[in-house]
Amino acid sequence: MNLIYNAEVVLPGQEAPLLGYVAFDNGRITATGCGQPPVALLEQASECTDAGRRILMPGAIDCHVHFREPGLTHKATMATESRAAAAGGVTSWIDMPNTQPPTVSLEAWEEKNRIAEATAVGNHAFFIGATASNLSLLHSLPFDRIPGVKLFMGQSTGNMAVGEESKIEAIFAETEAPIVVHAEDDSIIARNLSQLKREFGDELPVSLHSRLRSAEACVRASERAMELAARYGSRLHLAHISTAAECALLDSGDGAKRITAEVSPHHLWWCDSDYTRRGARIKMNPAIKSAADREVLRQSLLDGRLDMVATDHAPHLLSDKEGNLLQAASGSPMVQFSLPAMLTLYNDPAMVARRMAAAPARLFGIEGRGAIAVDNYADLVLVERHEWTVSDSDVLSLCGWTPMAGEELSWRVVRTWINGEAPGISSMALRFK
Ligand SMILES: [Zn+2]
Repeated sequence: MNLIYNAEVVLPGQEAPLLGYVAFDNGRITATGCGQPPVALLEQASECTDAGRRILMPGAIDCHVHFREPGLTHKATMATESRAAAAGGVTSWIDMPNTQPPTVSLEAWEEKNRIAEATAVGNHAFFIGATASNLSLLHSLPFDRIPGVKLFMGQSTGNMAVGEESKIEAIFAETEAPIVVHAEDDSIIARNLSQLKREFGDELPVSLHSRLRSAEACVRASERAMELAARYGSRLHLAHISTAAECALLDSGDGAKRITAEVSPHHLWWCDSDYTRRGARIKMNPAIKSAADREVLRQSLLDGRLDMVATDHAPHLLSDKEGNLLQAASGSPMVQFSLPAMLTLYNDPAMVARRMAAAPARLFGIEGRGAIAVDNYADLVLVERHEWTVSDSDVLSLCGWTPMAGEELSWRVVRTWINGEAPGISSMALRFK
């Protein structure tokens, strides 16, 4: 049995951490409590860790990562990115289907599971992509091991956009599992591009990204997805919300909702005036919007209009980030710094644990994770207040850089346990209710 004591423990339902202890055995939490651990526990423990009054949180669950494997392993691999995640306190991750081949068949999904089991750390799961031609497959998937279906309503990432109205409608009508939607309207983006070319010519700078992929493009597509979900009673989860106008469409609170939403740390951290300073390192889809948008996003995460944080960790080589608006790749790595960044922004470990662990577990029905509670898996992260400046040399991701380089953080991850072990032992498949 393993015992962590003298820790400020973030327990479910508590507004602030409580000084206490957590015991775990065979990967599961066996006891939690306030104050000093009982003598019996101390005697049973084979390993005792004095947390030195640091804060012990549930491991973060990141439900939106692109670990690039198979097919794009020059950018990232499950082995490298899952270790970057673990170093950043992310103990479970769910990977998106726009790999090569895309995860749009059970065979491709099984191959990803094989790679994860052989090479990754942390707890893994994989979305299946909805395409114009795999609707019949979506009816018969093992949803105890698949969190849901990813639908690109737009053409952000590879050839996976489902543009046809009737096909999209059928996906909403017939899918019972969560439908995770990347919502950006292509026709608005195409119109914006013509306008920008008229205004600036062909050599468009990266700083125009939020005018190309505008707030209007996001709002129009999110509205359309929400209309379809309401019509068919679908379970809709909107990925990476980036605008104030979309927040206004969402319900606050943590009650049962059929429509939920996530926000990514980069949309909370930067705004469009940072393009001049950061360039293509902060070029992502959806684009980073205005400071006013960012302020509403920050508030919405507090009041529950935005239910959870997910990184959209999307590594590219720095060489892929060169060139103008139409050349520089969209997407950036974030999984290693998301937890310290959120702690720095909000300075509230209980709130961050709700949005980065409890909510993802609840929204996707992940079994046995998301809170420090007896019988849950011992996915734990010890964090502490510490002023530091991020640099590319800290990065464990294969691409070797981070948009956070030069940013100052006031928290850091000290140690991570995954299923009660140090990262590096194994990767376990997530299970879904
Ligand atoms: Zn994504």
